[in-house]
Amino acid sequence: MVVYAPGRTSNYPDSPPDNGLRYHYLGGGNEVGNVGIVLEDPTSNRLLLDYGIAPTKPPRYPNEAPHVSNAIITHSHIDHLGMVPWLASNHNTTLHATNLTAAISEMMWYDCHKVSSIEGYPLPWDKRDIDLALSAWKTHPFNESWHQDDWKLELHKAGHIPGAAMLHVETPNKKVLFSGDFDTRDSQLTVGAKPVKSDVLFVEGTYGGRDHPPKEEENQRFIERVIEVVDRGGTALVPAFANGRTQDVVMLLHKYLPELDVHVDGMGKRVARLQMDHPETLRDPSALESAWRWCRRVSSKSDRKKALDADVIVSTSGMMDGGPSIWYLNRLRHDRKNAILLTGYQARNTGGRRLLEERRVPIFGKLASIELDVDQYSFSTHAGHQEIVQFAEECQAEDVVIYHSDPNMARPPLVDALEANGHRVHTPENGIPGILD
Ligand SMILES: [Zn+2]
Ligand SMILES: [Zn+2]
Repeated sequence: MVVYAPGRTSNYPDSPPDNGLRYHYLGGGNEVGNVGIVLEDPTSNRLLLDYGIAPTKPPRYPNEAPHVSNAIITHSHIDHLGMVPWLASNHNTTLHATNLTAAISEMMWYDCHKVSSIEGYPLPWDKRDIDLALSAWKTHPFNESWHQDDWKLELHKAGHIPGAAMLHVETPNKKVLFSGDFDTRDSQLTVGAKPVKSDVLFVEGTYGGRDHPPKEEENQRFIERVIEVVDRGGTALVPAFANGRTQDVVMLLHKYLPELDVHVDGMGKRVARLQMDHPETLRDPSALESAWRWCRRVSSKSDRKKALDADVIVSTSGMMDGGPSIWYLNRLRHDRKNAILLTGYQARNTGGRRLLEERRVPIFGKLASIELDVDQYSFSTHAGHQEIVQFAEECQAEDVVIYHSDPNMARPPLVDALEANGHRVHTPENGIPGILD
């Protein structure tokens, strides 16, 4: 367990680079999530991009950040902003993001705090630090630049989830693009990221070496499965992440199966409200609004009981780790007409992963056997291998830095493909600075 001793646990270099532009990964360099990247030039102009945690058990934290006056937060997933309250409280850092990212951050931090107390893992920040962080936001519309000394900064749409941004940094010598988590494909919620001409591209490589199934086919497979379950008189339980996936899935159901009775529970309800308050982040704001009016939002104990008779229940937690989805599973698990349709990645040691591998899930402290049908669908909103390679080509980036990527499985095939296309490829390690000159 890392306990930061501010200033003493940092291994960040004391002086700025002699030449060029230095990048230094506090986390996320050779791993997925847990992101923190410091960019600095010889004049000590410095910024931090993202500061997350990896919500594993126990969580992984990035290395301690040095003093930074400005941090840019690409989006509101916990692996990109989980450590931000520490930053605001210890370094009084100004936090830059889109409006929607700032708006969603509060519930993400409170939820992170709650989960850490339930699971018994200490966090290096507390609830008072959340207030400090909330007052440190400075928000920016997409495509409107601002300056930090002689750097020009600008946020561009990243796809992925509403409000997610790529950061473009123009220094006197270089144009640099950070993808954040991104997807060039449209989703129900967002439009895909568009390339931005740059000398250097920092690109997330979560899906290096893997291509997604065609979106329409995967949607169809999901829809057909829902129909089968409903036709045999069952309820489809659809665990979904709160921030992005819940709304995507509800919109999909509304589009293809408007005749069904669909109930929605969990934190995704509040996220949807905030998304609707920021229509500029959505591909089709009216489609989200009508899907939201159509579905039944669970807001009380009696609503929850009523939902047990629904055709479909969409609920957090997406990895069946606590949250209402566990309450529903407990009630639905004895009738084999019901089924579980997983809609996201299931991390190690989560209920969802155990369900897939052992057909057992911890429910309120007791391990329960689950005999229901279980399926998993690939609704990822990260760019797949070919999208990443094409994006780098279209950005015309001479240098490509691959991060947010598994260094053994995902990164090597990406390195090969990008080098074959003539890019100079960098494979960062946490804690070891690299120079772009
Ligand atoms: Zn991420
Ligand atoms: Zn993300």
